[in-house]
Amino acid sequence: MRRASGWLFALLGLGLLLIWLGVRENPTAGQGRVVVAFLDVGQGDAILVRSPEGKTALIDAGPSSQIVPLLERRGVTSIDLAVVSHHHDDHYGGMDDVVRRFRPRVFLASDSSYTSERYLKLLELVRDRRIPAISPTGSARKLGLGSVVLTVFPRAPADPDEENNNSVGLRLQYGGFSVLLPGDAEGPERRWWEENMPSLCADATVLKLAHHGSRSGTDATWLKLVRPQLAVASMGRDNEFGHPHPQTLALLKRFEIPLLRTDRDGTIVIQSDGARWSVVDHRHVSSRTTLAPARTRCPDARVHNNQADEGELSATPGFGPVLVRRMIGHRPFQDVDDLGRVEEIGETRLSRLRPLVVAE
Ligand SMILES: [Zn+2]
Repeated sequence: MRRASGWLFALLGLGLLLIWLGVRENPTAGQGRVVVAFLDVGQGDAILVRSPEGKTALIDAGPSSQIVPLLERRGVTSIDLAVVSHHHDDHYGGMDDVVRRFRPRVFLASDSSYTSERYLKLLELVRDRRIPAISPTGSARKLGLGSVVLTVFPRAPADPDEENNNSVGLRLQYGGFSVLLPGDAEGPERRWWEENMPSLCADATVLKLAHHGSRSGTDATWLKLVRPQLAVASMGRDNEFGHPHPQTLALLKRFEIPLLRTDRDGTIVIQSDGARWSVVDHRHVSSRTTLAPARTRCPDARVHNNQADEGELSATPGFGPVLVRRMIGHRPFQDVDDLGRVEEIGETRLSRLRPLVVAE
C-alpha cells in the first residue's frame, strides 16, 4: 500500500514536472508536428522524440558515446525524458554520456534484476545527479510530453532468463498517429502484452521491430494485432547477429509492410501533424531530394513518382521491380490517389504508400 501510494505521488510529481518543463521552448522543434527520429547508432537502438512544444524524449541511447554528437547535431539542448528499455548495453551504452551532457528531467527504466557493473554505474550516476527515476508499474501509465502522450505498458512478469523479455513497452500517440516501441521484447513478453492489453498494441502507424528485426522479435500474431503501416528496424551494417532475420523480412513482405532500416537507410525521421504522417528523411530520400528540382514543392522529401528513376523507386519500401516498371508505364500521375490506376495498387496498398510518395 505504502509502495502504491508512493508511486502515485511520484507519478503525480512527474506529471507536474513535465507540464512545468513544457514552458521551455526548443527553437528547432517542428511546428504542430511530432518528430520521431530513429537514429543510426550502429548495432543498438536510440529513438529521439520531439513534441510540437519542443519537449524531448530519448528512448535508448545506443551502444556508445557517439549518441551525444548525434543529438547535438540535431539541435538537442535538453532532454525531458530518458528511457532505457532494458539492461543490455546496445540500449544503454551511451546513456551515461547523455546523463552527463543533458541531465534528463526524468529517467525511466525497468526494475529488472538483470544487471552489470556498467549498468549499476549508470544508476549511480542518475542518483548522483538527483534525476527522478521511475519504472513501469502494475498498470499502464500515461506520460505527457507536451501534447504527445507516451503510454508506459504495465510491467510484464519478470523473466529471469531472458532480459529482452523485461523490456519497457511504450506507445507514442499524437492524434491519430502512433508509434509502438517494444524494446527487444521476444515472444513471451509480446504474448503477455497481446493477451493483457491488446488495445495498446493494436493499429499503430509505425512499429519499431523488436530486437533489431531478429525472428524472435516479430511474428504473424504480433503483426496481425499491430497492423503497422510502416516498420522500422535499428541495426548495425553487416552485424554479426544476422539482423534482420530473413524470416522477419519474408513476414513483412507477406503482410505488405514496408521496412526502413538504419543499416541501409541511415537515420530515419518521421513526422506527423496528428492527421497525416510522412517519412521526411532517410539516406535514399535525402540524397535524391538534394538533386530534385521540385524541392520546394516537395518539402517533406518523399519519393516523387513522376520524377524518380527506376533505382530510386526500387529503394522505396514496398516497391518491387514489377510494380516499379508498371508505375513508370502509367506516368504521369495527377496526385497520389491516381496511383490506383496501377493494377497492383488497391486501396489498402495505396493507404500504406500515401505517406511515402509524392505524385503531383
Ligand atoms: Zn538490443
